Amino acid sequence: MLEIKNLRVSFHTYSGEVQAVRGVNLRLEDEDTLAIVGESGCGKSVTAQSIMRLHNEEITDIKSGEILLDGTDLLSISEKEMQGIRGNWIGMIFQEPMTALNPTMTVGNQITEVLRQHAGGKNGKMTKKEARERAVELLRMVKLPNPEQRVDQFPHEFSGGQLQRVVIAMAMACSPKILIADEPTTALDVTVQAQILDLMKEMQKEKKVSIIIITHDLGVVANIAKKVAVMYGGIVVETGTVEDIFYRSKHPYTWGLLDSISRLSRRKGEPLKSIEGTPPDLVKPPAGCPFADRCEYAMQVCKDHLPPETGLSEQHLCRCWLLDRDCPVKPERRPV
Ligand code: SF4
Repeated sequence: MLEIKNLRVSFHTYSGEVQAVRGVNLRLEDEDTLAIVGESGCGKSVTAQSIMRLHNEEITDIKSGEILLDGTDLLSISEKEMQGIRGNWIGMIFQEPMTALNPTMTVGNQITEVLRQHAGGKNGKMTKKEARERAVELLRMVKLPNPEQRVDQFPHEFSGGQLQRVVIAMAMACSPKILIADEPTTALDVTVQAQILDLMKEMQKEKKVSIIIITHDLGVVANIAKKVAVMYGGIVVETGTVEDIFYRSKHPYTWGLLDSISRLSRRKGEPLKSIEGTPPDLVKPPAGCPFADRCEYAMQVCKDHLPPETGLSEQHLCRCWLLDRDCPVKPERRPV
């Protein structure tokens, strides 16, 4: 359904050109859930925003690549054509629901605005009455109690979890084929996080939507994802099914991420592990592996050359020199 090929995106800043995304390849199949995981600044949100073309055009430079949606390259169509894609084909859920909504408008008016702008009624546009009925139906679909009353309320009258439900209703308003969720649960309490993930899974099952979820939280990945792409320093370092990443991962950065999760088996007083060091400066990205400065297995070749992609199975790909057949070191993932 969606294929990203060799995407390179830079930002022009006072410090120089930040090479935020450096040759990303990803695929999203029908009704799939792809999680893009990594630390802040690894390029995951920029990749997602590129799909929607939501960048600040004054400072953003899409250096190369294609984003193919059912064969159409979203990077080469006009802004007017792109407006037809946003909402109708691709819906977006943002991290902070309060900032995604207008505080001076009722949630009903915000949903009807989306519907009247994007969704076609009998004559290409919905009437006000049709749009309001659909807004109530959407609030019911995301399980907000008393949708007939709540449709006339303002965002400040909702809790954080309820607001995220409203944002999901807006994203689903025009029955998109793809839902992009950028850290959709980060601003929410843990119990509400689980409810929102359950709701997204339900939406997927009922509406047959494909999901791209951007997150730094491997708990969220385990809960919802079928495929995972691990990003670091603007590139995808490992990608595979959720089982490949949790049980058969081959990249030292993925190992570091997995080791930093809290587990039931952790002994009392045992500190959580962290990955020492900081991510690379993408104004001057390293010539070799971006993880080399923090990797305990780094060799000279890692510093000099970007590792090629090694296919471990049809779906499981990893960029690490440890997988080179001539590599003298063959570490395995340490048991945790
Ligand atoms: Fe570590 Fe080298 Fe693999 Fe990079 S390529 S993750 S530095 S071993």
